[in-house]
Amino acid sequence: MNTFYKIFCRAFQGAFKLAIPLLPYRDPLVLRRTRELAGVLREKGIDSVLVVTDKSLVALGKLRPLCAALKGEGIRITVYDGTVPNPTVSNAEAARRLYIARGCKGIIGFGGGSSIDCAKAVGARIAKPRQQIAKMRGILKIHKRIPYLAAVPTTAGTGSEVTLATVITDDATHRKFPINDFPLIPRCAVLDAENTRTLPKSLTATTGMDAMTHAVEAYIGRSTTRSTRSDATRAVELISSNLGRAYDNGDDMAAREAMMEGSFLAGRAFSKSYVGYCHAVAHTLGGEYNVPHGLANAVLLPYVLRAYGSSAHKKLKALAIAAGVAEENTEPSVAAEAFISRLEQMNAGMEIPKKLGGIRREDIPRLARFAAKEANPLYPVPKLMSARELERFYYDVME
Ligand SMILES: [Zn+2]
Repeated sequence: MNTFYKIFCRAFQGAFKLAIPLLPYRDPLVLRRTRELAGVLREKGIDSVLVVTDKSLVALGKLRPLCAALKGEGIRITVYDGTVPNPTVSNAEAARRLYIARGCKGIIGFGGGSSIDCAKAVGARIAKPRQQIAKMRGILKIHKRIPYLAAVPTTAGTGSEVTLATVITDDATHRKFPINDFPLIPRCAVLDAENTRTLPKSLTATTGMDAMTHAVEAYIGRSTTRSTRSDATRAVELISSNLGRAYDNGDDMAAREAMMEGSFLAGRAFSKSYVGYCHAVAHTLGGEYNVPHGLANAVLLPYVLRAYGSSAHKKLKALAIAAGVAEENTEPSVAAEAFISRLEQMNAGMEIPKKLGGIRREDIPRLARFAAKEANPLYPVPKLMSARELERFYYDVME
């Protein structure tokens, strides 16, 4: 990357870092039991809610405890179960029509990141009835209060229950576009590990490594604050010592609870401190080849961290200490390598591969350009890289 563009990127990131304390971040109210949500909604005067979810969760009976609690409070329930894995504009529009037809007053996103993201888009459309979702793309386009939104995650990974972001896919072009604004931060996050108890092993693994990637990328970037550093290191500690346990034994509820907490903290950290090139590249692999987001991150992260080289050693040392694989007196380069090896061991222990199939050589320059466009100048990565330099990561992970 040329020097002038590097200076521009760093100045741009510096301005955003200065703005962090001025921006209207707020924390959701955190509940630990799903049934408690009904009372909170009742207190807010909400007597009719739209639950945004997907068909498989309904079929598995996962909604029953929530619905029983809502009924107990006399709250009318409307379920939209059409959310697909990469939620589309038409998903959000269909859910919005239901919300209006049934006179709902609040929204519950119940599921993985997709259902929560879809619920956020519904809220945005209710707040802005005249603006199409595609026109909300980018940052700070909502700036209006949305209906009361509660998020009930059923995976421990995306952090969507605490972030200001949603990613929606255009039905026609299949392109994903992010919408980022403060009103999209859920008012309430239900961190109830019971909702993740029967999550399949592979999803426990990949969503868990997504959370790990959020924590690591937020921590090693240059726009951290005392609170995001503390959230990220605690998340690394929790995920490093509990993800393998939750994977080996899905009924280990102490491990599941720790993962819920770790995922939430990692989400809170990256909301303010951003992610890095691992996410930028992972997003292009998701958009082009439908590689699941957590899987792409899990596979890419060790390669990306090694490529940052000495620019990330000191920070990776702090994470190595949090993960219990280095001591205060360990040489930073040695500690950084110990942490990266720890990530590789975690992947290997959960049958996450080292390579991804399906990447076509001829697509790489274009995908690297998309990744660079997403990351530069916004993401405060330890070492700046141009599109040309990002191409290496596709070669690193291609089979
Ligand atoms: Zn992610």
